[in-house]
Amino acid sequence: MSGNESRRQAIANITNSYPKQGETPDPLSKIWATDVFNLATMEEALSKNAFKAMKKTVLTGAALDPGTADIVAAAMKDWAMAKGAKFFSHIFYPMTNVTAEKHDGFIVTNSEGGAITEFTGSLLIKGEPDGSSFPNGSLRMTNAARGYTAWDPTSPAYIMRTANGTTLTIPSVFMSWTGESLDKKIPLLRSNTAMDKAARKVLSLMGETEIAPLNSSCGAEQEYFLVDENFANSRPDLLLAGRTLFGAAPAKGQQFDDHYFGAIPVRVQVFMQDFEDKLYRLGIPAKTHHNEVAPGQFEIAPYFEAANVAADHQQLLMTLMKATAKEHGFLCLLHEKPFAGVNGSGKHVNWSVGNATQGNLLDPGNTPHDNLNFLLFCGAVIRGVHLYGPLLRAAIASAANDHRLGANEAPPAILSVYLGEQLESVFEDIKAGKLLEKAKSGGVMDLGLSQILKFERDPGDRNRTSPFAFTGNRFEFRAVGSSQSVSGPLVAMNTMLADSLNWIADRLEQTLASGADQATAVISVLKELMELHSNVIFGGDGYSTQWHKEAVEVRGLKNIPTTADALPALKDKSVISLFETTDVLSPVELESRFEVYAEQYILSIELEAKLVCEMASTIIYPAAVNYISQLSTASSGLANTGITLDDSVVESTATEANAMMAEVKKLSTALEKHDFGSIEAHMDYCAEALCTLMLAVRSHADALESIVSDELWPLPKYREMLFIK
Ligand code: ADP
Ligand code: MG
Repeated sequence: MSGNESRRQAIANITNSYPKQGETPDPLSKIWATDVFNLATMEEALSKNAFKAMKKTVLTGAALDPGTADIVAAAMKDWAMAKGAKFFSHIFYPMTNVTAEKHDGFIVTNSEGGAITEFTGSLLIKGEPDGSSFPNGSLRMTNAARGYTAWDPTSPAYIMRTANGTTLTIPSVFMSWTGESLDKKIPLLRSNTAMDKAARKVLSLMGETEIAPLNSSCGAEQEYFLVDENFANSRPDLLLAGRTLFGAAPAKGQQFDDHYFGAIPVRVQVFMQDFEDKLYRLGIPAKTHHNEVAPGQFEIAPYFEAANVAADHQQLLMTLMKATAKEHGFLCLLHEKPFAGVNGSGKHVNWSVGNATQGNLLDPGNTPHDNLNFLLFCGAVIRGVHLYGPLLRAAIASAANDHRLGANEAPPAILSVYLGEQLESVFEDIKAGKLLEKAKSGGVMDLGLSQILKFERDPGDRNRTSPFAFTGNRFEFRAVGSSQSVSGPLVAMNTMLADSLNWIADRLEQTLASGADQATAVISVLKELMELHSNVIFGGDGYSTQWHKEAVEVRGLKNIPTTADALPALKDKSVISLFETTDVLSPVELESRFEVYAEQYILSIELEAKLVCEMASTIIYPAAVNYISQLSTASSGLANTGITLDDSVVESTATEANAMMAEVKKLSTALEKHDFGSIEAHMDYCAEALCTLMLAVRSHADALESIVSDELWPLPKYREMLFIK
């Protein structure tokens, strides 16, 4: 097919085929968590004693004895086989943002040639994939390349379905033979432990006697684009890089604000309903869905869960979303910036910490005592973001997310904290010493913070330009990218909180020991904290140029625009020490993360650069040449008629085409450079030289798109990909 024939065919296919009819939907009660081996399933399947042991493990992470593991494995196998499973798989979360799995059959043959099935406790607990092809960073050099997976009983096993069968899937950690984490799950579990330990110290000092295990919670809002596959399949850039590397702006973009919260297109709703039924079967509590700001962009947000489970569910959600979209003829784009000129996609990570005895510690609560606990935990977050802002920025750094941050559609690349007017003024009063006077006078200090809950929950009052915002009973980290695992941000948040709570515990202990009463001690510790860290609190417009200036020049905060600038934070002494003292990541494990993420950044920019050269030379240039030849033929056809065509069209086509090819030559030459001296220098080169040249090629290509005859244009256009469903 030549020219726009494939585009016309695509439009015809879409017009004639959709929406697809589904089956009659099942009620929620019939499908909820039916494919999950959760506590309710276990209670039915296990003996009383085995269930008791298992429940303790699930709720507290306590080790399981081998005997019980055998019993659980047998029950799990029977349950899965009754659902048609012939295979099981340990699913794990390597340092990339995707998941990995190796499948093994339950089958073993006996001497008579018959097939029996086997699944022991040790098979459940430990798997041995060949880890050598996963990115391991420096750990590849220092240790045997092979890694092993180990069951994480705190995240339930489940059934994955295809049209032809089911697989028992077991969430697992992934580590080297010498015990180093090669994955995103181990640090998350460790960061929870560190937070729990530190929070306990603070709560004990606050006089709490019964303290249940603390856990962090996460509710992630996932944005995504849907593009019809008929279009996507003719866009090598969407298929290989997940975003358009070319494409002129359509006459209509998002300027009418008519997509956000608009009526969801029927075909998209059919997809969402199918997808959400699958999530429900897997026990993932899909809660809201709606159109997002850009045309073709949508959001889904499950209800929040314990961070470890939420992180696994988030990965599963992304995998399932792509697979289900395909069944509905869509390519689901999780890339942070698939289309220039319209909003990109993020993933707001809502985060809180709490337990069964004290509740949510980021909830102001109803009593003055609850208020004090709340202020301490809130203060700990403020200190954490101030001290470790660059770490938070590094935790969300990727080539793709760089397109959003600082582009006035997502929070800026400066980490600040938004508290809301009321809470900010409480902290300002603390800093100014006003509350210390009050506390010393001994009266009951009702700060009226329970009001915050009601007030701040109104979305109309929220500051959407802040990367890190308090939203009434949790913080919302808004700068996370749509394709990213939530684990990295959660690890950074839990760990910085642990560090701050440790600091607070030390100060509190000293102050209490010197004879201060509890309220006075809390307020004086918080006063000191505010004197050191209040610079990070900002309630104004995060998009304004004035803030960019003030943040850096007056407040000493860092503006970190690219991944090349951000990742070196992982080598910073304070960050190494943060992770080492909290036992979340050893220096070697942290170093390996720097290397893996840096390598991924370089690989993705280089892939895009190669693709830009290839598409410009083999798809766009030929279209321009065809157009020139069409125009020239037409011109010659008019010879001797006295009619002439406007030469300027041929001229501008030729000028843009030649200029584009000149930039392509520069870019391919730039890609040949190999001697960088350091991985940091290599990243800088990608961020500066390669990205700039890619944009130069694109500007001429996009100019051509608006000159060349629509009939000859080979790539599906923005207006088609964004608006035709
Ligand atoms: P909005 O778009 O207004 O921010 P959404 O309802 O789309 O709100 O998403 C809010 C997310 O925050 C949901 O996943 C919700 O379950 C989650 N959430 C609510 N309370 C908490 C909490 N205490 N801790 C963590 N996440 C929470
Ligand atoms: Mg939100």
